[in-house]
Amino acid sequence: MIKAVSGFDRIGEENAFAVLARATQLAAQGMDVINLGIGQPDFPTPDHIVEAAVKALRDGHHGYTPATGILPLREAVAKRTLQTTGVEVSPESICIMPGGKVTMFAAILMMGEPGTEIMYPDPGFPIYRSMIEFTGATPVPIPVREENGFAFSGEEALSLVNEKTRLIILNSPANPTGGVTPRAEIELLVKGLENFPNTAILSDEIYDVMTYDGEEHVSLLTFPEIRDRLIVLNGWSKTWAMTGWRMGWSIWPDALYDNVRKLAVNAWSCVNAPSQFAGIAAIEGPQDAVTEMMTAFDARRKLVVERANALPNVTCATPKGAFYAFPNISQTGWKAKELASALLEESGVAIIGGPDFGILGEGYVRLSYANSAENISRALDRIEEFLTK
Ligand code: PLP
Repeated sequence: MIKAVSGFDRIGEENAFAVLARATQLAAQGMDVINLGIGQPDFPTPDHIVEAAVKALRDGHHGYTPATGILPLREAVAKRTLQTTGVEVSPESICIMPGGKVTMFAAILMMGEPGTEIMYPDPGFPIYRSMIEFTGATPVPIPVREENGFAFSGEEALSLVNEKTRLIILNSPANPTGGVTPRAEIELLVKGLENFPNTAILSDEIYDVMTYDGEEHVSLLTFPEIRDRLIVLNGWSKTWAMTGWRMGWSIWPDALYDNVRKLAVNAWSCVNAPSQFAGIAAIEGPQDAVTEMMTAFDARRKLVVERANALPNVTCATPKGAFYAFPNISQTGWKAKELASALLEESGVAIIGGPDFGILGEGYVRLSYANSAENISRALDRIEEFLTK
C-alpha cells in the first residue's frame, strides 16, 4: 500500500472545521443550529473591496503576478504597518500570502526539524502545534493562563528557551482566549532573547486592530533589537471580513525572505490577482465598515460575558481582544469537549472545547461572538437551560 512520509502521521487539523461540518449536517437535517464555533466575522466583505476585485477582473488582471505580490499592495501594507505600529518596513520584506495561515506554515516549515524545539502558546491556534509536529521539531507549549489575563508570562517563557529553541510563536490578541499580552511581558522575553541570538520569533498579529477598552496591541515590530529574526503574520481575513478570499501578508527578516519567495514559486506561484487589488482597496479605502464591525463585536462581547457569567458554575473573564470569549467551565462537572459535543447534538449550539487548542484548554470552552446579538442571546438561553437541567 502506498503511504505518505512520516510527517503526515503527525500532522493535525483544526477542529473548528469539523464542528462546522457537523453543525451544517445537523442544520441540513432540520435542526436550528446556532454557530458560536467558527472564527470568522459574520459580516460581508465591504462593498468597495468587492468592487475593486470585480474591477480588477474587468480590467484584465487575470494572469500571474510577482510571487511575493504586486508592488502597490506591498507598498500599501508597508504604509499601513507604519500607521499601526510606527515602524517603517520595506515593501521588499513583505510577502503576500494565500491567507494568514500560510505564513505559519512557511515559518514553521523553515525553522523546524528533528532535534530542534519550537515554542507555541497553549491554549493557542491548533495549527501551530500541528505544523511543528509535522516538521519533526519538538513542540514546547508556552502556558497561557487565565490568572495572567490569558497572556504568557515573559519570565516563564524565557525559562523554556534553550540552545535548541529555533522559533518562538506568539499571538496577541489571541485565539482562543481573547487575551492581549502586555508590553512588560514581551519586553522581558525580548530582553532575555539577547542570550539566544539564533532563536527566531513568529508574531501572529492577525487580530491587531481588534482590541477593546483602549487596550494596547503591542507589535513585536516595535522591538528593533529582534528585527533581524522576526517574522510577522497578518492579513485581511479578520479585519476586513475576508476569510474566503485567502489573503494574508507577512514581514520577513532579510535572512529568510528569499526562502519564502522560493516557497511561493514552488507552491502557489502568487496569490490570485483580483484579490490582491481588493487587498489594496481594503487598506487604502474607507475604514468605516471596520469601525462598525468592531462596535458590534464590542457590544456582543459584553453580552457574552454577562450571559456566560450568569450560567451555573461558569465564570467568564472579559476578553480584551479578538472576537472570542473563553469561559471557565471546570466547576460544571463537564469535560470541555464532551460539553461542546452534547450542546451541539442536544441543544443545537456549536462551540469549541478548550482542549482543541491545547492541553491547558481543559476546563474551558471557546465562544466566538462573530454572530448576531440575537443569536448569541438564543444560544446562551439554550446553554443555560442545558446546564440547569
Ligand atoms: N492566526 C490566528 C491566531 C487565527 O485565529 C487565524 C484564523 O482563525 C489565522 C491565523 C488564520 O487566518 P487565515 O484565515 O487568514 O488563514
